Amino acid sequence: MFKMTPNILKNLITEKATRLYPFEVRAPYDNVRGELTNDAEKCNFCGICAAKCPSQCITVDKKNATWQCEMFSCLFCGICVESCPKKSLTQELAHRKPVREKEIIFIQGEVKAKEIPNDSESR
Ligand code: SF4
Ligand code: SF4
Repeated sequence: MFKMTPNILKNLITEKATRLYPFEVRAPYDNVRGELTNDAEKCNFCGICAAKCPSQCITVDKKNATWQCEMFSCLFCGICVESCPKKSLTQELAHRKPVREKEIIFIQGEVKAKEIPNDSESR
């Protein structure tokens, strides 16, 4: 007990080393690779991110302009973000909240009508 007393007194007067999570959340570090988001306005559904993803959790359907990511399999490695030519993928500074059910991010883009060449232009 006598050995502990200096430590107890020291801890009473110094700043706390822990936080009362989840009421007090620490600010994220710089360059943290957090929640993944895709901007449907920028994405051209090329599928490069899906080809590069090491955990194969991205599925892209170019024809129907859909993009989806199965978040339980995502490693938050950021390879998809780095490889996206349209810069439509971003990783937020905040980490994803814990979930109990399988979560899929689904993005529906605009399906572009196939361009039919004008007869007068093609001649
Ligand atoms: S997110 Fe980027 S790499 Fe992935 S399909 Fe869209 S444009 Fe292509
Ligand atoms: S962060 Fe990594 S694991 Fe997650 S979707 Fe992107 S490439 Fe795949």
